[in-house]
Amino acid sequence: MIPKSHPRYKSLKTRKLLERGVRDGITSLNGLIAHGRGEAFDYLLGEKTHDFARKAIKAAAAMLLLAKRPVISVNGNTAMLVPKELVLLAKLLGAPLEVNLFHTSYERLQKIKKHLEQHGGKNILLPSKRCRIAHLDSPRKYVNPDGIFKADVVFVPLEDGDRAEALIKNGKNVITVDLNPLSRTSQKATVTIVDNIARVMPLLITAVRNLKNDDARKVHAISKIDNKKYLLKALKEITLHVK
Ligand code: ATP
Ligand code: MG
Repeated sequence: MIPKSHPRYKSLKTRKLLERGVRDGITSLNGLIAHGRGEAFDYLLGEKTHDFARKAIKAAAAMLLLAKRPVISVNGNTAMLVPKELVLLAKLLGAPLEVNLFHTSYERLQKIKKHLEQHGGKNILLPSKRCRIAHLDSPRKYVNPDGIFKADVVFVPLEDGDRAEALIKNGKNVITVDLNPLSRTSQKATVTIVDNIARVMPLLITAVRNLKNDDARKVHAISKIDNKKYLLKALKEITLHVK
């Protein structure tokens, strides 16, 4: 038991959750390493949501709402950290959840699918060996023909740089959540939300609800997208933080 008074209570709880994810066969060991990288940047960002992230969240909500075929890509970390929120976002957008893993196996795909279903997810898509995107050689090239293959906007939090770039080259708009403003994913994405996925999801859900019936504000939010600016502001915040 972690005492609530512990100054790093939240962070330790999150670690425990991912530890359980590994035990349950949902998160990969590499997922733990990726989480560690994220934590380091979160520390430097003061573990809070900044204005540049709020702006990116609004832009992301508008982009997802205006998309013809939005898809939400899920990996072993996000499935463990924010399953309920992913399911709710999918429902609000009428978008499918599609599982896509770097360290993939039939068992892990099925376990993640089941985990999302236990949190209310329906029609969870899995990659098909008969359908692939171009410009990518890892197993992550396999996608679902009714999901990412046809998507115009893909929400891919905690993504690998290669795949983000490939999705863009396949003509898709990519929205990511990444605490590292210098990662290739952050640099390649159409919109990068530099913040912790655990803080982002509730804010993104609220932004989708707020913008849902307001076309003028959606279009306005999209016209304001400036990913370079979000990243530069994040970097500035990090350097200000180091005393
Ligand atoms: P890239 O391939 O894009 O250059 P990378 O190889 O450093 O990045 P990956 O392991 O491919 O990173 O993906 C993990 C990314 O997710 C890292 O950039 C990490 O900072 C970020 N990350 C990890 N945990 C979280 C979290 N909870 N919220 C947001 N971002 C996170
Ligand atoms: Mg990578």
